Amino acid sequence: MSDHLFYQSRQTRPFIDRAEGIYLWDVDGQRYLDGSSGAMVSNIGHSHPHVLSCMAEQMQKATFAYRLHFQSDIVERFAKRLAQKAPAGLDKVFFVSGGSEAVETAIKLARQATIARGEPDRFKIISRTPSYHGSTLGAVAVTGTPPFADPFAPMMREMPKVRAPLHYLDGLDMDDPTTGAHYVQQMEEKILAEGPESVLAVLVEPIGGASTGALVPPAGYMEGLRALCDKYGLLLIYDEVMTGGGRTGTYFAADHFGATPDMIISAKGLGGGYVPLGAVISRNDLVEDVLDHGGFLHGFTNAAMPLAAAAGMGVLDVVEDEQLCARASRIGGMVYNRLRDLQSQYPFIGDVRGKGLLLAFELMADATTKQVLPKELNAHAKLVNIAYDNGLIIYSRRTRNGAEGDHFMVCPPLISSAAQVDELMGLLEKSLA
Ligand code: PMP
Repeated sequence: MSDHLFYQSRQTRPFIDRAEGIYLWDVDGQRYLDGSSGAMVSNIGHSHPHVLSCMAEQMQKATFAYRLHFQSDIVERFAKRLAQKAPAGLDKVFFVSGGSEAVETAIKLARQATIARGEPDRFKIISRTPSYHGSTLGAVAVTGTPPFADPFAPMMREMPKVRAPLHYLDGLDMDDPTTGAHYVQQMEEKILAEGPESVLAVLVEPIGGASTGALVPPAGYMEGLRALCDKYGLLLIYDEVMTGGGRTGTYFAADHFGATPDMIISAKGLGGGYVPLGAVISRNDLVEDVLDHGGFLHGFTNAAMPLAAAAGMGVLDVVEDEQLCARASRIGGMVYNRLRDLQSQYPFIGDVRGKGLLLAFELMADATTKQVLPKELNAHAKLVNIAYDNGLIIYSRRTRNGAEGDHFMVCPPLISSAAQVDELMGLLEKSLA
């Protein structure tokens, strides 16, 4: 770390020189395979010529025009295309610069919509534990992983959380047809305990991201949440910061379920690492109500920059032209099978899970009893460091229930070829060995 810059810790990493496709090079010329697309961001890979040319073209015109001073054709066209990617009925877009800002936007929009409808007593957001929704204080308030949220608890209104489906901690079988209903019932108990008339929304990742290690919910769970929200008059908000952009095999993970949310939160793969970009895509009537009722009290200076929209449009072109949603399913299936092969070789791989190219594996002391590795072993950091030495970058978390569990996100760019999957799995196996 330099004298003038700081991040989360004193840990140092190589200095980046350049990046292209699924690879990054440091200033010493060492090449790294981007095994987790950064933090599940670089879905279309690095330095894609189409996106660079879209950006260059827009840069010649206008990079920034304050959205309250000018409308922008490219921003409007981008909003329209994004709305078309969302489930029917979600057709109003608010652009921001990242996931946390998008989470804040959804929370404030939900709250203002409910005030506009004459229900000002609804303010509680029910999220899950574990979960991660961002770094700003509002997003931290709904984050259900204690180490991220606890230090700030006295600084904000406590928002209740309900425990999410979680394989090993709860000891439930995610493939058992009754598991979904069990968790829906837990959610209902939480809503009832809070008093349904005080609850504003349920906020969940449709498929878990880094906090759960790519946990796919059990059958019927998402549909059950939708039914609960309808029963008690709550909004259902999907945080698709990590699952969006095609990563799970459909543009939004919402498409995997028979449950349409009232809002979708998007970021990461939306800008694809080319620009900081996020968005909320909302039900039209919610936005209309808020605008009719004095306007939306919200906004960020850099929101809806024409340059960001040009990059986002370029990324969307690539996702469509290269059919990356279908590719995520196909390549994801290959990676999943290879991870299962590794699991049969290495007994310390306790689980492999996920959907499309949102995949993870988990290290365990005992796969049968699902016992996690001792914290002191620091296995997640060790494997990451060995992988670095082998030229592979892999995103890890030790946050199951905020305290235990070593999982690794195997989420290469959606553009990865079969040969590159071979290379990735070879490097991973070498690192595990
Ligand atoms: N929600 C989810 C599900 C995320 O994974 C993240 C980032 N990891 C965020 C929100 C916050 O996004 P950002 O870091 O862009 O603010």
